[in-house]
Amino acid sequence: MSFKDLHIIKPLLRAVADSGYDEPTLIQQRCIPSILEKKDVIASAQTGTGKTASFALPILQLLFDKQDAPKRGKKVRALIISPTRELAVQINNNFKTYAKYTNLRSTVIFGGTSIEPQIDILKKGVDILIATPGRLLDLHKQDYVNLDYIETLVLDEADLMLDMGFIDDVKKIERLCPETKQTLLFSATIPYKVEQLANSILNEPQRIDV
Ligand code: AMP
Repeated sequence: MSFKDLHIIKPLLRAVADSGYDEPTLIQQRCIPSILEKKDVIASAQTGTGKTASFALPILQLLFDKQDAPKRGKKVRALIISPTRELAVQINNNFKTYAKYTNLRSTVIFGGTSIEPQIDILKKGVDILIATPGRLLDLHKQDYVNLDYIETLVLDEADLMLDMGFIDDVKKIERLCPETKQTLLFSATIPYKVEQLANSILNEPQRIDV
């Protein structure tokens, strides 16, 4: 199985080749087709399995494919929620690596640091936003983030997010996005409370375990 077999488009294949990936990992083989079909997904996968690319590549492809030129770079169309700053920064670095032959733009926002530089970047417009929950809600409340055009929402490390007490924030963020969006939930483990969250926000999800 190759990335080409997964129908990944050329600009992304080039970036993947630059990264030195020979073939998709198991989670990538299983997630990429479902995400490209715009299905909701709940996936249990540990860090280190290649899970970031398993959502980043199909999200970039869906955004690239859309002939929505007026919206490109102006409206946030994909939102990735991460429990920690470190993880959020890492996810953004992944998006930037895979997007280098596209004109899609991503940025990362997180708390515990000055808000102004983040506002300046948001004002310029991005397609993909990676965020920790509190800072996202803060910037949304101040009208610097518009979630009305979100096409795909990703909740990464959902178990950690709940352990850290972000459940209400996550539910609030989900409700601020359009009902028609695609939602992807990734979690190292799927305890009952993650399953409950999944039941309340996912629509006929594909379950993927690796
Ligand atoms: P992740 O699970 O997303 O944290 O990824 C773990 C590491 O695997 C990262 O350093 C990725 O760059 C790398 N990686 C992701 N996909 C592949 C692949 N298909 N082949 C080889 N390495 C990969």
